[in-house]
Amino acid sequence: MGDSEVLTPSTLVIGVLAVQGDFAEHAAMLRRAGVARALDVSVREVRKPADLAALDGLIVPGGESTTIGKLLVLYKLLGPIRERAQHGMPLWGTCAGAILMAQRIAEGRLEGQPSLDLMDITARRNAFGRQLDSFEVDLDVPAIGEAPLHTVFIRAPILEAAGKAVATLATLADGRIVAAQQGNLLATCFHPELTGDHRFHRYFLEL
Ligand code: GLN
Repeated sequence: MGDSEVLTPSTLVIGVLAVQGDFAEHAAMLRRAGVARALDVSVREVRKPADLAALDGLIVPGGESTTIGKLLVLYKLLGPIRERAQHGMPLWGTCAGAILMAQRIAEGRLEGQPSLDLMDITARRNAFGRQLDSFEVDLDVPAIGEAPLHTVFIRAPILEAAGKAVATLATLADGRIVAAQQGNLLATCFHPELTGDHRFHRYFLEL
């Protein structure tokens, strides 16, 4: 927990898992989205179970899902995060984070690979092959507003076979799902933290 945290009853405390990956970019976007919504947002880097205390939401950033999964076990965060999310804490996984939230992985899951195992989706890792490992595209995301969202995909997964309780928030032109929500759980295959557009972070704050 940061010593600099100044909390009032209206402060939203949002955690960003900070064991690997691009957590600093998420923290910056959360602060900007908070300002835009006139919300009092305090961002906390999460590295140990005590950091989860009184969190109003948590982001699991992009990175390498196998590495983040192992670190979640090492830092004793896997079970506590799963439990908080099961009890309603908003949880948003981007890219590797989305893979960690999926209940199923299409091929490619190594035996015993740790997972938060929360959302009724099947994630396919590195779904875009080598040439297309990374690309950018404008997508319609009606949940966050009319204007298309510029999205960045980096060795991204897709979400296949989403269950009935899962709402699709965005698809590619070919219909493949790249953003989904199941109640308090949010998964995006792209990286909204790497653009100037903080509407997705605002959407999460509103959850
Ligand atoms: N390819 C990575 C994985 O499988 C995810 C990449 C990312 O988070 N940008 O974990």
